[in-house]
Amino acid sequence: MHQLICTNCNELYDDETKTGRCIKCDEPLETVPVHDGQISEEFPMEKGIFNRYGSFFPFLDLDDSLSLGEGTTPLVHLGKVNDEIKGSNIYIKNEGMNPTWSFKDRGTLTGILRAKAKGIKKIGTVSTGNMAASVAAYAAKAGIQATILVKEEMAEEKIGPIGIYGPRLIKVKGNYRELYSESIRLGQENGIYFINSDAPYRVEGYKTTAFEIYEQLGSKIPDYIIIPTSAGGNFRGIEKGFRELQLSGITDRMPILIASQAKGCNPIVRAFESGSDKVEQLREYGTIAHAIENPFPPSGNQVLRLINKNRGLAVGVSEEDIIVHQRVLAKSGIFVQPASATSLAAANKLINEGTIPSDSKIVCIATASGLKFTESLKHHKIDVESCDIEDLENIMK
Ligand SMILES: *Cc1c(COP(=O)(O)O)cnc(C)c1O
Ligand SMILES: [Zn+2]
Repeated sequence: MHQLICTNCNELYDDETKTGRCIKCDEPLETVPVHDGQISEEFPMEKGIFNRYGSFFPFLDLDDSLSLGEGTTPLVHLGKVNDEIKGSNIYIKNEGMNPTWSFKDRGTLTGILRAKAKGIKKIGTVSTGNMAASVAAYAAKAGIQATILVKEEMAEEKIGPIGIYGPRLIKVKGNYRELYSESIRLGQENGIYFINSDAPYRVEGYKTTAFEIYEQLGSKIPDYIIIPTSAGGNFRGIEKGFRELQLSGITDRMPILIASQAKGCNPIVRAFESGSDKVEQLREYGTIAHAIENPFPPSGNQVLRLINKNRGLAVGVSEEDIIVHQRVLAKSGIFVQPASATSLAAANKLINEGTIPSDSKIVCIATASGLKFTESLKHHKIDVESCDIEDLENIMK
């Protein structure tokens, strides 16, 4: 049996607890790290990442029929196409190329496989956007019911792209963090497996991002990886992926991990800068980067522990910087949503300040596609010219 371990006090568990967290210290659990993983060369990437990296998932019974083709996303070298790109060695991992246009799909697949292994026929999540769409889509593919709990004040235009997959959608009034714990408890009572933001088997799926980056860089570890961070699930998964590569003897070091947040909602950055080991709940917050607007991240303390363990950083960027870098990325051919622009914004900030050298090999995670949140386009000046067909010849000269 593959056990779970508390990320803080190392208490071992045979299965997920009723709270989804450690019973002793209330911190998140993770599966016991793999020490003998191998990359299976007989499965090329296009045959599915969970085949190629299967030995890093000894607790999963892989069922290809549940896959929508997640992962194997491009790693794009930015090059010096515009002056706003300060580094010479910056790569964008474009997670907008996943089946529902965000990285969440990697973790939704591992979550749904876990539900299947436990014989649970319904899945659910608490989300305001990308994770809800992802869980609804994978449930549709599997032919099972998804229960999606959203905030009561959620905008109508965000409901459609989730509802189209046919889930049960429930708007809930009340505290969002409470909803997170209530969903796990009520899910267990009602036979619904909740694959929330930092659920252990969701975090597992995110390891594959680390494996791909390592392979796409020609079996090399980057110097820095910058991850837009909200609940902390993706940060934890990417760290665990690199940790397991090292534990398995495939690599000999860890990259330095950096969490990027919007200054308008930056609970992890605040704790990091004040030297605290506990993330405090924010009472007032607001940012255009809605996908990372979590005032009390459930894996915040663990992200802090991982940062402090490995000389990492947590960096806040302004609203203006977010919009500027959304534009900078678009001018390099990649259209991301505002949350996803925080990683490149943080890279430029750190290079400008001299905190990291401009020739460092930096991977910025672009977490989701810009088409998922076109409302952000109103912050950009879009130029359009018009003319009669007779004048076109003149105008184009
Ligand atoms: C979910 C999400 C994040 C944050 O991921 P966490 O695992 O919650 O830290 C960042 N960017 C986008 C676009 C997301 O959808
Ligand atoms: Zn514990």
